[in-house]
Amino acid sequence: MDEIDALYEEVILDHNKNPRNFGVLEEATHKAVGHNPLCGDHIEIYLNVQNGVVKDVKFKGVGCAISKASASIMTTVLKGKTLAEIQSLFDEFHRTLTSKVDEPVNTEKLGKLAVFAGVRNFPVRVKCATLAWHTLIDALGNKKSD
Ligand code: ZN
Repeated sequence: MDEIDALYEEVILDHNKNPRNFGVLEEATHKAVGHNPLCGDHIEIYLNVQNGVVKDVKFKGVGCAISKASASIMTTVLKGKTLAEIQSLFDEFHRTLTSKVDEPVNTEKLGKLAVFAGVRNFPVRVKCATLAWHTLIDALGNKKSD
């Protein structure tokens, strides 16, 4: 493992151990539940969206280190983003994780999400890393009735 991989692994382990924005968002306007039966990952995403912009986000769940770290890091990049920006980020994230191992990674666009680029070496773990994002996209299309 080279230095960069070691650094990425450290980030993932840190977010797994100390997940950010973990819990239930009482004033959620949107929510969804996601499962990855291949691994047993289970995630709930709560969002507060005002005028098409994410104001707050939290998640709950159990699963492997990659699924939890991915959800945790995801929640740290969503606040203040429009739904179009989020969709574009998800598209780039998904494209990167399902790309060939030697394809360049757009680290400028991905920012801290780039730590998951290494997951494409392990196709069976790609669903762990994308579960939170698929659940997020579900949640954004799933307005909670009040
Ligand atoms: Zn998993």
